[in-house]
Amino acid sequence: MVENQKVIITAGASGIGLETLKLFLSAGAKVAICDIDHSALDTVQKQFPGVFINHCDVSDAIQSENFIRNAATFLGGIDTLVNNAGIGGPTARIQDITSADWNNCLSVCLSGQFHCAKPSIEDLKLSSNASIINISSSAGRMGFAMRTPYAAAKWGVIGLTKSLAIELGEYNIRVNCVVPGWIMTK
Ligand code: NAD
Repeated sequence: MVENQKVIITAGASGIGLETLKLFLSAGAKVAICDIDHSALDTVQKQFPGVFINHCDVSDAIQSENFIRNAATFLGGIDTLVNNAGIGGPTARIQDITSADWNNCLSVCLSGQFHCAKPSIEDLKLSSNASIINISSSAGRMGFAMRTPYAAAKWGVIGLTKSLAIELGEYNIRVNCVVPGWIMTK
């Protein structure tokens, strides 16, 4: 089922994204990743020369669109988009959080998923096994004191996922969300 699938993973150079990359490769998929960490991308490229890598900050709509287009060209289409990129954001009481920190957290964790999903849709429509997998968090179901922007963004990811699933169902594009608990990645 996964063999020869064309898979895009955001923030695939470390942590959960890198482990997801390894799983897809071991199942025979073709994979493209982006990340903001040049050095981590170089390490992945050396270890997995067949993987397409691209430097991209998913909070930037233009960079994200360019990444998705380049990845789709390399892969010859898109079957799966894993919207994995996310940051923890500030740990502070809301009165101590700056607007810049709030906006940055939502830009990466929530808008980044919109930035990458939007340019993927036309390619996903052409796939016979199309899927978008958005990474949320238990914070997006239960809330997270002192991490309000992160929790709000991850709650938004669930709303994005549910709404997109309804919107894209007619094209047989599955849209699902993973809600991890705490995972040690470093
Ligand atoms: P991580 O911090 O281990 O790795 C994050 C990767 O994202 C890094 O390679 C980093 O360079 C990259 N990155 C950061 N900002 C980026 C950006 N703007 N554009 C592109 N790449 C960027 O993270 P992780 O723990 O593997 O988390 C992956 C996803 O899982 C995130 O969405 C996170 O919120 C979610 N999650 C993680 C946990 C956990 O306990 N680890 C729990 C719940 C949800």
